[in-house]
Amino acid sequence: MTRLLVLEGDGIGPEIVAATCDVLAVLDARFNLGLIVERAEIGFPALAAHGTTIPDAVIARALEADGVILGPVSHNAYPPVSEGGLNPSGVLRKRLDLYANIRPARTPEGLGGRAPVDLVVVRENTEGFYADRNMAEGSGEFLPEPGMALAIRKITAKASRRIAQSAFALAETRPARRVTVVHKANVLRLSDGLFLDEVRKVAADHPEITVDEMLVDAAAAHLVRAPERFDVIVTTNMFGDILSDLASELAGSLGLGGSLNAGETRAMAQAQHGSAPDIAGTGAANPGSLIASVAMLLHWLAGRGGADSFARAGAATDAALAVALADPAARTPDIGGTGTTRAMTDRVIQALGSD
Ligand code: ATP
Ligand code: MG
Repeated sequence: MTRLLVLEGDGIGPEIVAATCDVLAVLDARFNLGLIVERAEIGFPALAAHGTTIPDAVIARALEADGVILGPVSHNAYPPVSEGGLNPSGVLRKRLDLYANIRPARTPEGLGGRAPVDLVVVRENTEGFYADRNMAEGSGEFLPEPGMALAIRKITAKASRRIAQSAFALAETRPARRVTVVHKANVLRLSDGLFLDEVRKVAADHPEITVDEMLVDAAAAHLVRAPERFDVIVTTNMFGDILSDLASELAGSLGLGGSLNAGETRAMAQAQHGSAPDIAGTGAANPGSLIASVAMLLHWLAGRGGADSFARAGAATDAALAVALADPAARTPDIGGTGTTRAMTDRVIQALGSD
């Protein structure tokens, strides 16, 4: 038995989570995965019921699960609407020690127009500017005096080393075998200097991988001009957050961007995008991002000693998604179609049944 905890989230969360769970149920039946899918409440509903967007009981259940599926969450606006608005995604990443955020961007077949993209952003997930920034947890941001705000950016050798190890291990499995280290060490000499030093040390253990070093501003420009020169990008938390949105849009849409938050012993599937409040409730959300994220989770579970059926289910999901995206009738508006969340989901399920 494999226990998955599903957290619905806000905005388009309920819609794309429902779509993904339908796909998961088909996969479970078809590949005999033996899934136990449980649910818990986070985000705004949890805030109303329990006074926090991420109750301790949910964290405990996430720690016990074999895998977590997290819908997009809208924990807080600025200015904050209420107390208790912790970022559930940030809290879960930290409490489950999910230090690597793996964010592929790949142009689907038949969705041309721009230069094809096939890369993976490997984003450090536990520190940088996003460390300890939750107000209730002791903040990495503070106001030393009125009219002055400071933000602390934390970089450690340990976290830099382990994210570099994840990136190089991933690059070993890809044909291009190239890692681009993205940083800003010319300005952030101490913090990004430390990050770069650690990545260089890991690179020395992988002589067969081609390594480029690139400043983050140049990387943004090169991504738009020549995305084909990128294979695996390894970078710190905030740079990875921004560049992965850019890469996903270049590959077709943020609505296709799947991602996995992975640690040594735990993983959480989560779309790259946020709660997309502008299209929530309209049926226009592309469920591809979360379905692709769940495929990544299935591959991860297979790699962690899960049955071979998990690898086959992951591969079948990738293939079914490709079939659905190649069908203009199933495409959602973000990728130029008129299809709905439901139409795309049904097409994925149909493809799963017919291969
Ligand atoms: P949040 O604060 O929760 O991140 P946001 O306003 O930044 O919300 P995002 O979710 O990050 O919005 O989305 C950015 C843009 O991409 C929005 O215009 C949104 O509609 C679009 N988008 C994001 N996800 C999807 C999706 N799954 N399908 C279609 N469009 C999407
Ligand atoms: Mg956003």
